[in-house]
Amino acid sequence: MRVFNFSAGPAVMPEEVLRKAAAEMLDWHGSGMSVMEMSHRGKEFISIADKAEANLRALLAIPASYKVLFLQGGAIGENAIVPMNLLGSRSVADYVNTGEWSKKSIKEAKKYCAVNIAASAEDKHFTYVPAQETWQLSKDAAYVHICTNETIGGVEYQWDPDTGDVPVVADMSSHILSRVIDVAKYGVIYGGAQKNMGPAGLTLVIVRADLLGRAMSLTPSAFNWKEQAEADSMLNTPPTYAIYVAGLVFEWLQAQGGLAAIEKKNIAKAALVYDYLDGSGFYSNPVRKQDRSRMNIPFRLKDESQDEAFLKGAKEHGMVQLKGHRSVGGMRASIYNAMPIEGVQALVAYMKDFEKRYG
Ligand SMILES: *Cc1c(COP(=O)(O)O)cnc(C)c1O
Repeated sequence: MRVFNFSAGPAVMPEEVLRKAAAEMLDWHGSGMSVMEMSHRGKEFISIADKAEANLRALLAIPASYKVLFLQGGAIGENAIVPMNLLGSRSVADYVNTGEWSKKSIKEAKKYCAVNIAASAEDKHFTYVPAQETWQLSKDAAYVHICTNETIGGVEYQWDPDTGDVPVVADMSSHILSRVIDVAKYGVIYGGAQKNMGPAGLTLVIVRADLLGRAMSLTPSAFNWKEQAEADSMLNTPPTYAIYVAGLVFEWLQAQGGLAAIEKKNIAKAALVYDYLDGSGFYSNPVRKQDRSRMNIPFRLKDESQDEAFLKGAKEHGMVQLKGHRSVGGMRASIYNAMPIEGVQALVAYMKDFEKRYG
């Protein structure tokens, strides 16, 4: 029996995608091979990668002036790859600090350049997104980096920054494809696949083409966006199987009606949890209402000595991975695209019942 998996990542996948991958496992479309046995340069795999890119472009309405790269190294890899590729002749980059993932990006960037913290939400324990009017941008920054969904703190931008000619670079690992976005508002969008796109191992980079060609000479070729763009992401062997499964997820999203339709469902799913949390004196979520994440919902029980009982009971009801991140404690429900509303309803019903028994 499958469980309701509230993991932050690697995370729940659409069951239809898993079934399709299973059905095609031994023989993909009469090729007599599994996708993982194919040459990345053969016509079968090229057709898989091309279709995945075309479907992703259609879903996000990615303008033709942007390159789509399927790479490796994860979002943590990109924390170094971003400054290596974008600094060019500049020596400063602006970073907005909204939590744990921003902090990781900042720490890594400091190896490559001077980092200006344009704004930080640390004063309120990372429970909000600092308004753009408060950002102290430097005059000569190569880019402004933000994390648009803080997976651990549960804080999400509900707006796109506008920094004029300075490109915005966004780590969208944990909410990309959960909502409609205007790609043109960003210079670079990146993310690991394992939250909302597919299996771990695939890193997506969407980069405006005019930003290519600024890489430091010591940048590894596999991480040089321009070289990878010119090689259609095949300068090295790409994560072929992960690209194939992500492609199935893109097709599944289209069958759901695209991102506007999935966004509606995500709004409804998140509202079920937040409405209940806000009406309860037993559970709490610390994030400012307008900055709450639709994908990752951290919450606390009034008495943390009941945490173990809560998790144990949840597991007995077929709901797993609800423990909060080790750095913040409490609970966290990650409700990505592939989490059906039935899973969210089951969670809220369980929370109500637990409150009745322990509150
Ligand atoms: C998970 C996550 C990362 C780290 O991704 P890796 O694939 O482990 O490198 C970075 N940023 C955000 C926002 C994440 O959710």
